Amino acid sequence: MQPIRLYNSLTRRVDPLAPLALGRVTIYTCGSTVYRYAHIGNLRTYLFGDLLRRTLQYLDYEVLYVKNITDVGHMRETGEDPILLAAEVEGKTPREIAEFYTDAWLEDERLLNIVPADVLPKATDHIAEMVELTRTLLEKGLAYEVAGNVYFDVSAFPAYGQLSGQRIDEMRAGHRVDIEPDKHDPEDFALWKRAEPDRLMKWPSAWGDGFPGWHIECSAMSMKYLGERFDIHTGGIDLKFPHHEDEIAQSEGTTGHQVVSVWMHGEFLTLDDAKMARSVGNVIRVTDLPSKGFQPLDFRYLALTAHYRSKLDFTYDAMQAAAAGLRRLRRAVSEGAGGDGPAPDLAAEPMAGYRARFVEAISEDLAMPKAVAVAHAVAADDDLAAAARRALLLDFDRVLGLDLDAPAEPAGRELPAGAAELLERRAAARVARDYAMSDALRDELAALGVNVRDTPQGQETTLRR
Ligand code: AMP
Ligand code: ZN
Repeated sequence: MQPIRLYNSLTRRVDPLAPLALGRVTIYTCGSTVYRYAHIGNLRTYLFGDLLRRTLQYLDYEVLYVKNITDVGHMRETGEDPILLAAEVEGKTPREIAEFYTDAWLEDERLLNIVPADVLPKATDHIAEMVELTRTLLEKGLAYEVAGNVYFDVSAFPAYGQLSGQRIDEMRAGHRVDIEPDKHDPEDFALWKRAEPDRLMKWPSAWGDGFPGWHIECSAMSMKYLGERFDIHTGGIDLKFPHHEDEIAQSEGTTGHQVVSVWMHGEFLTLDDAKMARSVGNVIRVTDLPSKGFQPLDFRYLALTAHYRSKLDFTYDAMQAAAAGLRRLRRAVSEGAGGDGPAPDLAAEPMAGYRARFVEAISEDLAMPKAVAVAHAVAADDDLAAAARRALLLDFDRVLGLDLDAPAEPAGRELPAGAAELLERRAAARVARDYAMSDALRDELAALGVNVRDTPQGQETTLRR
């Protein structure tokens, strides 16, 4: 194993990782709430988890990776359960909704070469564990029940606020309309909620029929699969508060000690500088990319070009640059194929030097933009044999996950029959400023699967797959 340093949201520093067990790292990632399709913003956060896991494995750690599936609705600010709402709108059962969107999410992850987690536990399979944690918190005087609702008593847990760095009085001031008037204090949060009689998803408990609060599921599933102490917990930046703050209160409240050593949070993907979110209405799915002329892995490359703790703004220009960068690396790999010389020795100079630079980048808080720059330096190094360039890039690809041995231009990337003639006619129409004709020809080309963009250098085409 080689040392690695990671930014810990808890200490607010980049610290050396000291795994609980030598050479073995346990990771929990908050997974998707499966009532709608994941968008590429969500997927940026899961890519960050994937890069963490691949980096640790590249550095010779054994990794146990758990990512949960939130298939029980939890009420966010609106007081509505999104899974039940989706079931009603789509005329399906909550279980059908959850299964459909789980499959869609995992397929999107597959398209992005996100390695499946070792364990993908579902919240609905762990209600008993959540009830048990809630019972323990009540016993310990850290929670109270009001008419079938159980709340965590934040005032009984002095460490509350340590992750997000907020004081209770500030949180209180920040609270808006409260939809749970029976709480003692606005910052208390639900561990268990009483179900209304006609609610579809509910479970029996000592406090009557009900359903779990949102945060308790991650305390239950993380500790069940990784134990009462584990190494790293990841999620998007918006989960830091309240979700992770509340998870710390629950897990540490029940065990009486620190549970998670390192908390890591990924920054947002934005679109026109606004957070990509369903509520904003600016979401793009990974499966939307081919119709814009891009492959899913072009997006993976784009995500690698920004550090996970920086915002990344999604634009199609940035995607063009990403696609071009990916093509360049793949070309370098294919140029080195087929030689029958001895396999290059990556431990010998100058290959070892490149590897050291790559390791230095990834092990300093996952500096992927630097790691990608090292890959391009290799691809452009004419003094290196083509086979050595290929071997190095394929080695780096264990972390990058870009399928660098795929053809730079996927099969069938030649223009379809008739497209070249349409392009010529369109170029002529543009010279003649016949924009109606030019637009009509653009539509004809699109129907053939060819997207056209006008650039100062002329028409640029991308082929849909
Ligand atoms: P959700 O399914 O809403 O719980 O979100 C799943 C994950 O996506 C969480 O870790 C969120 O923090 C993360 N997330 C949501 N929106 C974005 C975004 N625009 N960019 C990056 N991550 C996001
Ligand atoms: Zn969680």
